[in-house]
Amino acid sequence: MQETDFVNMELNEVVIKKISPILPQRSDLHLYMLRLDALHPIVSGNKLFKLKYYLEEALQSTHRTLLTFGGAYSNHLAATAYAAREAGLRSIACVRGEEGRKPSHTLDFCRSQQMEIHFMERELYRQISETPHEDFLTSRFGPHITIPSGGFGVMGARGARDIADFIPENSFSHICVAVGTATTLAGLLMAGRKEKIIAFPALKGMTDIPERLRKLTVQNTIQPEVMQDYSFGGFGKWNMDLISYMNRFYKVNNIPLDFVYNAKMMFGITDLIRKGFFPPGSHILAIHTGGLQGNDSLPANLLAF
Ligand SMILES: *Cc1c(COP(=O)(O)O)cnc(C)c1O
Repeated sequence: MQETDFVNMELNEVVIKKISPILPQRSDLHLYMLRLDALHPIVSGNKLFKLKYYLEEALQSTHRTLLTFGGAYSNHLAATAYAAREAGLRSIACVRGEEGRKPSHTLDFCRSQQMEIHFMERELYRQISETPHEDFLTSRFGPHITIPSGGFGVMGARGARDIADFIPENSFSHICVAVGTATTLAGLLMAGRKEKIIAFPALKGMTDIPERLRKLTVQNTIQPEVMQDYSFGGFGKWNMDLISYMNRFYKVNNIPLDFVYNAKMMFGITDLIRKGFFPPGSHILAIHTGGLQGNDSLPANLLAF
């Protein structure tokens, strides 16, 4: 396993653990999980990799300022706020919508890391976060390095490519990953691995993955297999089937999942195993991308962990 201390943050070792899909035992299938969630208690999972090159660029600048975008529960904002503070950088967030009467736990956390929070009316936010208007942003916030919403950019994908270094070659037949902006997926594809890559969108009917991968400069000869049936109605949506799956998964594997991304992916993998999608002898690696801070937005006492 290789070192990941690229921003001088103290990081835990990332391990691959054998897990049970909580189905009747099948001796012909082998399921594993890459525990990126264990990397760091706050900047867990894929976000730190996506931030890597933006952090480096900001550290080399004179203004030493990062600006980014997100919703009130965004894992990306939490990770950016923490990593920026650790690196001694100033951080600014444009947040979609208006400040609620009670700020989200995520924004409370971001403020505790000295992130400057600016709310933006939804339409303006949509325009600006999709294609950052640098003149406008600089006039309003001063000089900075922009991290696109969710880290969706070529530098983000290049950082995510390093996730593949944790996966030994010739050990797995399939690699499974949850998808939000498709930046992490793009990084894995860029690594040029031989394993079949299976993507689980956390958004409903996400038909623009090929276009996103093209924007992130992934050669279009390599395409993932995309499983569209496990978004549970859309981004951030959940139901009691998903919650009870998370609780059973925790009981059997002692691994917490987040309800926005990884629980949906694991539910999907379990369903695909049940349906016979994976050929006998498959060695399936699921990447746990972290995101556990998001579970604090669920009603209390739903989760057994
Ligand atoms: C952001 C996030 C993702 C999605 O990553 P993308 O690179 O945007 O596709 C997956 N899992 C977790 C836990 C995340 O926070």
